Amino acid sequence: MAIKKIKDVVCRKKMTAEEAKEKAEHNKIIYYFCSKRCEEKFLKAPENYLKLVG
Ligand SMILES: [Zn+2]
Repeated sequence: MAIKKIKDVVCRKKMTAEEAKEKAEHNKIIYYFCSKRCEEKFLKAPENYLKLVG
């Protein structure tokens, strides 16, 4: 029950923090990614992905 589900904002895969391979900080929020590839896509254009969240 302490497992926190997080979402890869690039590919929208749901996972736990332990399953995440990469993470990046943007505007003081940590985002988790399933792969380096997703992280790179996010860092190139974070706004594109943040629009989709909330
Ligand atoms: Zn991903």
